[in-house]
Amino acid sequence: MQVWLEAGREGQVFTYANPEGWPLASGDLVRLRLQGRRHVGLVVEPLAELPPELAGRRILPIEAVHQSAAVDPHWQALLAQVARDCHTSLFRTLKTALPPGWLGQRAERHASAPRRRIRVEARSDAAVPADATAGLTPRQLQALELLERAGGAAWLSPFSAATGIGRSVLEALERRGLVRLRRMADGLEEGAVLLPGSEGVAPQLERPQVLTPQQDEVLAAIRAAAPGQALLLWGVTGAGKTEVYLQAAADALAAGRSALLLTPEIGLIPQLLERCRRRFGSGVLEYHSGCSEGQRIRTWRRCLASGSPVLVVGTRSAVFLPIPQLGLIVLDEEHDSSYKQDSPMPCYHARDVARQRALRSGARLVLGSATPCLETWLSCQGSQPSTTLLRLPQRIGSRPLPPVRLVDMRHELEEGHRRLISRPLMERLAALPACGEQAVVLVPRRGYSSFLSCRSCGEVVQCPHCDVALTVHRSRAAGGGGAGRQWLRCHWCDHRQEIGERCGACGSTAFKPFGAGTQRVMEQLEAELEGLRVLRFDRDTTRGREGHRRLLDQFAAGEADVLVGTQMLAKGMDLPDVTLAAVLAADGLLHRPDLRAGEQSLQLLLQLAGRAGRGDRPGEVLVQTYCPEHPVIRHLVDGRYEAFLEEELALRRSAGLVPFSRACLLRLAGPSASGTATAAAALAERIRPGVVAAGWLVIGPAPAPVARVAGRSRWQLLLHGPTASVLPLASEAELRAGLPQGVSLAIDPDPLEL
Ligand code: ADP
Ligand code: ZN
Ligand code: ZN
Repeated sequence: MQVWLEAGREGQVFTYANPEGWPLASGDLVRLRLQGRRHVGLVVEPLAELPPELAGRRILPIEAVHQSAAVDPHWQALLAQVARDCHTSLFRTLKTALPPGWLGQRAERHASAPRRRIRVEARSDAAVPADATAGLTPRQLQALELLERAGGAAWLSPFSAATGIGRSVLEALERRGLVRLRRMADGLEEGAVLLPGSEGVAPQLERPQVLTPQQDEVLAAIRAAAPGQALLLWGVTGAGKTEVYLQAAADALAAGRSALLLTPEIGLIPQLLERCRRRFGSGVLEYHSGCSEGQRIRTWRRCLASGSPVLVVGTRSAVFLPIPQLGLIVLDEEHDSSYKQDSPMPCYHARDVARQRALRSGARLVLGSATPCLETWLSCQGSQPSTTLLRLPQRIGSRPLPPVRLVDMRHELEEGHRRLISRPLMERLAALPACGEQAVVLVPRRGYSSFLSCRSCGEVVQCPHCDVALTVHRSRAAGGGGAGRQWLRCHWCDHRQEIGERCGACGSTAFKPFGAGTQRVMEQLEAELEGLRVLRFDRDTTRGREGHRRLLDQFAAGEADVLVGTQMLAKGMDLPDVTLAAVLAADGLLHRPDLRAGEQSLQLLLQLAGRAGRGDRPGEVLVQTYCPEHPVIRHLVDGRYEAFLEEELALRRSAGLVPFSRACLLRLAGPSASGTATAAAALAERIRPGVVAAGWLVIGPAPAPVARVAGRSRWQLLLHGPTASVLPLASEAELRAGLPQGVSLAIDPDPLEL
């Protein structure tokens, strides 16, 4: 028996004996020991005989079957494809695809066999044809009679034990429509609760909305799409996309197929889950990092064991669930970068995996967004687009999108006002409590204090060699204490320069690193606006499983007038009293040293704008910036996201940037800064000949944007090459083999952040 083990090195295969004669097959998970410790391994290949070189050696036995048929051949083929696309091993991919803890030593805690309680029911309803009992075998007739005597229904295993009637006899009767076998899970009847609109619907379930003509058209297009087809549902926030998802899911279930609804953030799960459960009952499954380990394993197993369709709501990793008969995959907020896994490997994007799955299982894939990403939009173009574009341009009830007002922070400064919060914003906030309205205030976290901008003219210091803003670095002063030295550095080419005294463009000395934290904003608001109730919404205040929910509930209940927060604030919130959405330092988003900075900040700003004016009162968006001419700000004011995409696409095309070329990032991390830098340089030299021969470029090495994390120094190498070309790299294991001890390597073949 050949078995893969988590404890082994990458892809290492071990041989174990099977003295108990378990009927093992490739794809089973088994329990065993390695060096005295318990593990779970995957059976790669059951061998009939021991390989000759192992004859006479003592072979340890497999101790038990952990889960049979865990990885079926179709699923294994999908994982193998993901492994290839992500330039990593099948084993690593498997680890990502299985519930956490399921392959490790902790697995045993959860390893009790799944309880499959099956209920047998005689059917006496009108659906049974009158002559249905004709031609039954004596055994089948006996089974019917016994079931009648048992009161017409019974649990399968006690019934079989008492009568000797096996499952196959009952299944034959089921095929003739005379009995029903129903799988009961945790006391719930999965089949019926997930089939709205058909018999057995619980009356307490919510009815579907009557669709608007636009929604109707979109749903019809989804229905008419070929199996495996991807569709982009482009609709502003509040356009009724979620309602379309729910009805498309109902379609799939009614056709006997499963549906998977993905959302990027765990903070958005409760809302979506609640809507699904109201519509489909409590049998809706969930799978995300907010679930306990046991809960994730239960969901995973239910998918595996379920012959009947399931409906699963989850985040990124749920895209790997072994869901049977997948008929629909929805990726809501498809542009969201949380769908991308940066570490550990495989560095997959859930959107790409979903495309693969849809093709392989003949499911429709619906990508939903108010602000689709450039790649998806590009895939809708051309004469034979791979994605079908569907639009929902209007909000339900024709509520207008709120207008955007800019506050030019340079004027504020000219007039001697140096506060984080401008006077116009202060005025608006001060007036809130009196009219019973609420506001959300976004304080961008990314880019906090990281680039240098001129407060007088808006100039941002750029790298002379690359089209990105330089980043401020600080070193601790020698001997501790003091502010230390500051300098500017480019993350693409490692160019460095001093921080000047004056702005190179206008000569002003108001030339400082940029930034503001939620904490400081809150303090200023509370100090200056007495009686204004402020809540803070960021990673520090939303810890824990229910953290998001608790804060949002408080805010929704009117316990505060203002919610000050980071990026998370922009997503999904639907509160009728919010009439103002404000951004404190839009510049903190715009000048991040990243290829996608423009696209992502416009997505975020438009999403934030979508929070205001969802109720009866009109909303407004207020944006503070030092740079009102920036294209992102211009397009935000016009509300013309599509025009922005077109400009951006033209720009990337002419510069030959992604997606008109391919990029691959190699990330190294090690305990010492110099050791990691040396290893990165050596790796660059090692791969350069092959990479260059294939027409690719090696850029760097350079320190990673966050150069030190958890005590480890991080460096990176960027490879750049033509689209549709194969990555000119040796296998992951070979690349790793040449690295000094303690230095780790991750390969990200399509990095989001460059
Ligand atoms: P989105 O997902 O695009 O933000 P939703 O599906 O959440 O939009 O719809 C926004 C609001 O409009 C929700 O409160 C929803 O219940 C309601 N809604 C959606 N479709 C309809 C409809 N056809 N008729 C009435 N109300 C609807
Ligand atoms: Zn200046
Ligand atoms: Zn540079």
